Amino acid sequence: MKRKIAILGSTGSIGVQALEVIRNLPDLLEVEVLTAFNNADSLIQQALEFQPNAVVIVNELWYPKVKEALQNEDIKVFAGESSLIDIVEMDSIDMVLAAIVGVAGLKPVYHAIEYHKPVALANKETLVVAGELMMQKAGENQVPLLPVDSEHSAIFQSLAGEFENKIEKLIITASGGPFRGKTAAELREVTLQQALKHPNWSMGHKITIDSATLMNKGLEVIEAQWLFGVPLEDIEVVVHPQSIIHSLVRFTDGSLKAQLGLPDMKLPIQYALTYPKRVATDFPRFSFAQYPALTFEAPDLQLFPCLQIAKEAAQRGGNIPAAMNAANEVAVAMFLQGKIKFTNIPDLVAKTIAHTPFSIPKTIEGYIETDLNSRIYTNHNSSF
Ligand code: NDP
Repeated sequence: MKRKIAILGSTGSIGVQALEVIRNLPDLLEVEVLTAFNNADSLIQQALEFQPNAVVIVNELWYPKVKEALQNEDIKVFAGESSLIDIVEMDSIDMVLAAIVGVAGLKPVYHAIEYHKPVALANKETLVVAGELMMQKAGENQVPLLPVDSEHSAIFQSLAGEFENKIEKLIITASGGPFRGKTAAELREVTLQQALKHPNWSMGHKITIDSATLMNKGLEVIEAQWLFGVPLEDIEVVVHPQSIIHSLVRFTDGSLKAQLGLPDMKLPIQYALTYPKRVATDFPRFSFAQYPALTFEAPDLQLFPCLQIAKEAAQRGGNIPAAMNAANEVAVAMFLQGKIKFTNIPDLVAKTIAHTPFSIPKTIEGYIETDLNSRIYTNHNSSF
């Protein structure tokens, strides 16, 4: 039986790589649903090749174009945000790959869990914003959340066969991003082009900037806290510039288990989509000769305050990580548009958190309310 996959965010970096994985495993995986936000051309092309049951173009402006292009195909075409949420209910979907960027992924993932669909989770913002609620619902409905993020996949793979054993520490590795080792003065002058040049990974713009500020590591610490039920104080970040060790688990006997490999997202994507099977690939193999040294160092929290900001937000809990995430999304978008400097990103996030009244939302809507308020505040307070 083929596993039928709904890819939410099929036109993004993770979405496209997931389609490469599926293209290579036609006997195991099949595309059931594809969704895009603005990229109608890419969605049409993907739909023509993979012949899904349905597609959703979230920006309704592009609906006529997609509808017309697919009129001779046996493919349902929907549009709008509500369709993105409703589509995951389809009986024929076996697994949802959450590959939308940002908080836009929150409601569809929650709805997928409500409808008992296993989720392969790339969209880390979902757990950052509403981790407690997501995990609670996933537990109630016995829905597996399979990590796609390479660090969390590495931890998940290291935990195979160890689920009864106590974790002493999770050690999340970070490449350090393109600005590792810069001085504070140099960092104030970095350009967008420099920030978008990640040393090891090719990813969407938002996560690439998050990697450069180290906010991505902060988001991953929060994601790990929820996925693996490990307290924040037992999650450590270590900079490992070669990005070969994707993360580690230390058990109470002192043993460290890690997963290693070349930096290629197709591997963790495939592991989640075919879980619990490992399926043969022809991906390039790691060569010891090419990596004579694997090195490690502590993250520079003074130069990259976002990691510390994220840890503190997680410690406070409630709606604070949601406020932080919203502020970060707005700040990163402003940096991408050339409206603020790279070093303004943490300032803006910290300012928004300081302005956020603490609450403990009980519903997804409650978290969304914090998200919206934080966006408004960040947008109105971005002059430096
Ligand atoms: P991209 O920016 O490349 O792609 C984002 C996808 O989401 C696109 O399909 C885009 O549609 C869609 N999208 C954007 N905004 C909306 C919205 N408001 N409503 C619905 N769909 C929307 O992102 P990435 O693939 O890089 O990242 C996706 C997620 O995976 C992020 O949460 C990221 O942190 C995580 N991740 C990514 C990794 C990577 O290697 N890229 C690694 C680990 C985690 P369109 O293009 O049509 O506008």
